[in-house]
Amino acid sequence: MKDFLVTLGSLLKRYIVWQVRGILPLLIIAGIVASVIVAPAVSSALGQGRVLWTAAEMAATMDKAYDKLPLIPLIPDGEVKDLNTEDYGGSFQCWGIKTNSELLCKFTLEVLPYYYYEGLHGENDAVWPASIAFIPGDGQYHFHILGRASCAGHYAILNYRSQNYASPWNDATSILATLVHELGHVQGVCGEPVGYMEASNQVLTFEILAAMANHGNHYAVRPLVKELRDSSLSYVEAELIDTPLYPVFKLWKHLTINTTFEERARVAKSRRYWANKQDELEYIIRSYGAVPYTLYASTVSSPPYITPKLQLIEWGQTLVLDDLAYFINNLDKHVNSVLESK
Ligand SMILES: [Zn+2]
Repeated sequence: MKDFLVTLGSLLKRYIVWQVRGILPLLIIAGIVASVIVAPAVSSALGQGRVLWTAAEMAATMDKAYDKLPLIPLIPDGEVKDLNTEDYGGSFQCWGIKTNSELLCKFTLEVLPYYYYEGLHGENDAVWPASIAFIPGDGQYHFHILGRASCAGHYAILNYRSQNYASPWNDATSILATLVHELGHVQGVCGEPVGYMEASNQVLTFEILAAMANHGNHYAVRPLVKELRDSSLSYVEAELIDTPLYPVFKLWKHLTINTTFEERARVAKSRRYWANKQDELEYIIRSYGAVPYTLYASTVSSPPYITPKLQLIEWGQTLVLDDLAYFINNLDKHVNSVLESK
């Protein structure tokens, strides 16, 4: 019986060895094929995961900084002189610019030379708008449009809500970021494709705001931190919106970014509005947030901080994001310096 078992055991062993030898080459080939096909997919998924993680970290960091930064009250009651403007002009002039707001004009005078200083025009000076004004709206514009501008010098308008003490939009944060963006169009940032041009203009806006902040302008810090938070958040959202991970993103955003009742109520309201306008919403998320993020995030990670080709005044222009890199690398110091100056 024992002999029989030994014989059976050795037969079995031989059979298994024979079988494994037989399929070994197959296993090796299958392994090679699998690693050739799967490895790049796995490594690209890991790489993609890392990029997403970095963007999510950026959003959380900027949100923390944003929550610490105080609103700097800017707007004296009744500052807007005339809401009956007919040609985006306003009733008085300030350094040759027709306007209805002294505040808007003073910020414009402060911001414009930065377009020269940051190299947008080469050796030429910045372009001055003929008129700049706060304009109210009676529909979509009221809720979703912060500002508008014509190309190359004519006018820039900002939504009057950001000036109106009766509105929850009434704070300095959105005004300065919007003004810099619209003045970018006034410089001649226009043209096709529109989505990429808007994304390029956002990158220019961030660099100008960073240049202002590094120059000691405390007004620029809060708007820039908000823009960097929103753009990195948009990047993560755009990457996950069509995937099964989207609910996880929403939960993370709920727990990390929108932590107050006020923020959650606003997000919930906005979600109801955009529920059947998903395409439009995705376009906005990509052009104004996600694409700008891809353009600046890799640029600021190492010198010489030169962007990929942008659609600015001409197609193919690049920017040096040295100020943005400096700002991001010294975020805490910027926040502390605003807090100390209070
Ligand atoms: Zn624009």
